[in-house]
Amino acid sequence: MTPGTQTIDLRSDTVTHPTPEMYAAMAAAPLGDDVYGGDPTVEKLQNIAADLLGKEAALFFPSGTQSNLAAMLSHCGRGEEIIAGRDYHVFQHEAGGSSALGGIVHCAIPNAADGRVSPADIRAAIKADDPHYPITRLISLENTVSGRVIPHSDRAELVAIAQEHGLSIHLDGARIMNAAAATGLAPSVLAEGADSVSVCLSKGLGTPSGTVLCGSTAFIKRAYRARKLLGGAMRQVGILAACGIVALEQNRHRLGEDHANARRLGEGLAAIDGLSVDLDRVETNMVFVEPRTEDHSALRKHMREGGILFGGQDKAIRLVTHHDISPSDVDRVVERAEGFFR
Ligand SMILES: *Cc1c(COP(=O)(O)O)cnc(C)c1O
Repeated sequence: MTPGTQTIDLRSDTVTHPTPEMYAAMAAAPLGDDVYGGDPTVEKLQNIAADLLGKEAALFFPSGTQSNLAAMLSHCGRGEEIIAGRDYHVFQHEAGGSSALGGIVHCAIPNAADGRVSPADIRAAIKADDPHYPITRLISLENTVSGRVIPHSDRAELVAIAQEHGLSIHLDGARIMNAAAATGLAPSVLAEGADSVSVCLSKGLGTPSGTVLCGSTAFIKRAYRARKLLGGAMRQVGILAACGIVALEQNRHRLGEDHANARRLGEGLAAIDGLSVDLDRVETNMVFVEPRTEDHSALRKHMREGGILFGGQDKAIRLVTHHDISPSDVDRVVERAEGFFR
């Protein structure tokens, strides 16, 4: 952050600025043309990502939305169907891209408040081979979901259902590294059984942009074509990939600090009379705090005037910790919030 900048931005973990290590890596990165013959730094990032996620190959994308879209286009044809939780990003927050551009049908099933989908709901959503129905092709999972870690023990049954019905599994692992940090499980273990997995480098991992999509060599070949079709093939993009390497080799290992800061923030705010925080919901780097409805916008304004940015999406305000938030920032946030209710 620029010296002297006092803003504490808790709206998202996407707001981070590149670290000094990232700037150094960008300056030193060997570059090529990633469309015309390859970029060595991109290739290095893709190899690191594929290894970490336990897949054969990986592909670098400008955004998570495009990576998920390319994955859906690579798994499904027109008139084919994806089953996903109704709060999941692929269904709710990607402008319906797979339907608009790929003619893909979404079947949204309920997900619990903790983000989990139930095997029974998935089974019930799978269509019979009948010309009245779309052809079910893909189960799209997510981890973490609004900061909640999906228990790894859920996975085996979902994989078995997919195998039984000849379906593929995509895992939107935008924040899978947070799930890995929280559980102590390797990313490759969390991605077991998934035919493809998407990992955002620009959230808690701190790069300016970019997502890696991992899967089999044959799948990544299809995704490569889809990325071109979507206009996502980039040139001397080793500049960005260099940040991604720092993210996976270094920043990944400090996500626990964000989780500790989220807990500190949650506990501090929960102690304030007038705020309600469900501490069970704080599993990674997100805290949801609920002021009384009548305090909602005044609280956000009070915080903003103190240089603290809160998101305003819902009844519960989402606060996200990241590498530009320190424990003393957390204490400043709690003090400022106390001031509002005093
Ligand atoms: C942020 C996010 C994405 C999309 O990433 P962008 O880079 O913002 O397009 C996809 N899935 C989940 C779960 C996310 O949180």
